[in-house]
Amino acid sequence: MATETETMHGDCPTHGTVKATRELPKVTFPPVYTAVKRALAKRRPFVCPECGKPVETD
Ligand SMILES: [Zn+2]
Repeated sequence: MATETETMHGDCPTHGTVKATRELPKVTFPPVYTAVKRALAKRRPFVCPECGKPVETD
């Protein structure tokens, strides 16, 4: 499935301030189905690009 990467500044315990990333499914037909998948993806934490661990975000 096609995805888009959402980025946000996060605080990794090991690497300090990093550009944390999170993958979201791209909106495709049917949109309702995608909206559910995106809502689930948005509940996942952003992760550090260096170590892949969840980071604190604002
Ligand atoms: Zn890290």
